[in-house]
Amino acid sequence: MKSHNFGLTTSLLHADTYRTPHGETSEAIFLTSGFVYDSAEQAAATFMGEENHFQYSRFGNPTTDALQDRLARLEGAEACIVTSTGMGAISSALLAHAKSGDRVVASRALFGSCHWIIATLLPRYGIETVFVDVHDEAGWEEALSVPTSAVLIETPSNPMLDIIDVRKIADLSHRAGALLMVDNVFASPIGQKPLSLGADVVLYSCTKHIDGQGRVLGGAILGKADWIKDVVQPFTRNTGNSLSPFNAWVLLKGLETLPLRDRAMASNAAMVADFLAGHKAIRKLHYPGRADHPAASLIRQQMSHGGSLIAFELRGDQEKAFRFMNALKLITISNNLGDSRSLITHPASTTHMRVPAEERARLGITEAVLRLSIGLEESEDLIADLAQALEEMDH
Ligand SMILES: *Cc1c(COP(=O)(O)O)cnc(C)c1O
Repeated sequence: MKSHNFGLTTSLLHADTYRTPHGETSEAIFLTSGFVYDSAEQAAATFMGEENHFQYSRFGNPTTDALQDRLARLEGAEACIVTSTGMGAISSALLAHAKSGDRVVASRALFGSCHWIIATLLPRYGIETVFVDVHDEAGWEEALSVPTSAVLIETPSNPMLDIIDVRKIADLSHRAGALLMVDNVFASPIGQKPLSLGADVVLYSCTKHIDGQGRVLGGAILGKADWIKDVVQPFTRNTGNSLSPFNAWVLLKGLETLPLRDRAMASNAAMVADFLAGHKAIRKLHYPGRADHPAASLIRQQMSHGGSLIAFELRGDQEKAFRFMNALKLITISNNLGDSRSLITHPASTTHMRVPAEERARLGITEAVLRLSIGLEESEDLIADLAQALEEMDH
């Protein structure tokens, strides 16, 4: 069904559906590595690009193609390539685009593995990399005052939920000749549309909200059709960064309920954030959906909801933070996020343990900071669990 006039949720259920002659309701999974040809001539014509026929699942597969079409539609992007993981998407986008002698600028507040790619991997290939603090306006101007190939930002950032002005960084990036790439995982495709704010490329870990049910890993690169086809596709095809058709199918099922889940999780998170912000055991809370977020007015312009992640600092130390986590009965300890189950993590000892202590301090990740990913449980149950654990931690 090809219609561009459907609402978002309808499109994610019906648009671009490819059915086999069996007329299945749910998309078929094409769990096949290769494809057969009617004749040697057809095979030759396919390899010449004269005939539109699948060749090999590393190059393309009906199930992964269906996911790419739906993700592109969801994002409002011209094209999409899906990858084996979120890190596969981010590393391929950067390595496909930048070459030796180029310069890449990145926000300092990045997901741990992204930080490693910028700080360690790219310089190995002769790519100069520069980190800038999220709030350092002069630093961004200076870093982007010379020709640059790509800029990578994450907003809201992990784990402190700092916000970057996408439009402003897009303008600076374009003046420096760079593509602006946005890791949009924390906002989710429902909460923020970076392309509409001037970004050139949007990157996802589909492992998070898009699956949202803790089952599979996956990633996506979205951008202009020419860039995807000429720059990214040769890289992902030839380096083998492809998504399993099975995982693509699971992610297609995830997309069907994404708008519903995402809004429900954000509305739950807003209620939980209000409860925690008013509690005497909490020193500081960071939630993009609250009026007391330092970037509240910018958030209203570039995000459609506050998201499902909350960061907060307890009054106390690591021991107290651990006691609190261990006292939770419903919310479970896991470093994943965007899941239908609420999950909590202690960034300083897990996701950010490899970030040097002084860098952590600079990002505000103290020993008493916790990151909470809110799921689909009833908000009353989540609040009751948090309340009893805050009580218990002092005993
Ligand atoms: C999880 C995550 C990634 C990496 O995704 P994987 O699917 O785990 O490889 C990248 N960026 C952010 C912000 C993430 O949360």
